[in-house]
Amino acid sequence: MNCTACTRPLDAPAQLCTACTRGLDVRLAELPGQYLLLATHLRPGAARGDGPVALVRTPPLPVREDVLDMRATGGMVTMLEDWRAAMQNARGWGPPARTGTIERRVMAAARGLRINLDWIAEFFEGAGDMAREIRALAGQAAALLDPAPPTLAVGECAADLGGGDICGAPLRVPTGTGAVEVRCRRCGADYPPHMWLTLATGAWADAQGVAA
Ligand SMILES: [Zn+2]
Ligand SMILES: [Zn+2]
Repeated sequence: MNCTACTRPLDAPAQLCTACTRGLDVRLAELPGQYLLLATHLRPGAARGDGPVALVRTPPLPVREDVLDMRATGGMVTMLEDWRAAMQNARGWGPPARTGTIERRVMAAARGLRINLDWIAEFFEGAGDMAREIRALAGQAAALLDPAPPTLAVGECAADLGGGDICGAPLRVPTGTGAVEVRCRRCGADYPPHMWLTLATGAWADAQGVAA
C-alpha cells in the first residue's frame, strides 16, 4: 500500500504517510494566518516606481485580482470548506455550517480538518487529493504574500522539508537582474542555473530524490 499523496510505500494500511500528514497539519495551521496577511497585500507596492511618472494626477493603484480571488468566496475558504464537507460526509456526518465572516470560516474549516487529521490520514479516501490541493493552495498563498519583483517561473521547489515532505513552493527568477541562482523563498533551498531545466520539467525530484 502506498501513500495516496506522494505514492511512497507505507508500513501500515493508511491513506497518507507520516510526512504528508505532518505537512498537511502544518499547512492547515498556517492558512488562516496567511489569509489574514493577504488583506495587507490587496494593492501592489506603491514604491515600485515602474509606472508613468508624468501624470499630473496619480490614479489609485488597482486592486490585485489574484489576491482578491484567493480571499473571496471560491478561493481559500471554499477549498477548505469543500474538503471539510467531503470529510464529514465520508464519516456520515452532516455538512458543516458556512456562516460568519470569511476569516472565521477559513479558521473554522482549517480547524475542523486538523482535529480530524488522524482519521483523514488513516481512512479518508480523498486524503491524497486533499493533501496535494492544500499544498498547492498554501504555495499560492505564500507566493501572493511574497513582494518579489516581476519574475519568471522555473518550477516547484523539490527540497525535502524533513521526512520526505516536499516543499513544493513556486520557484521564480527575478527578471532583468542577471540572477545566477534561484533560492526558494519558502525554505531557502538554492538551485544553480544548470538545475533550472530539470526543475521546469519536473524531472529533478525523480532523478535526485532531494535537492536540499
Ligand atoms: Zn506521503
Ligand atoms: Zn522550498
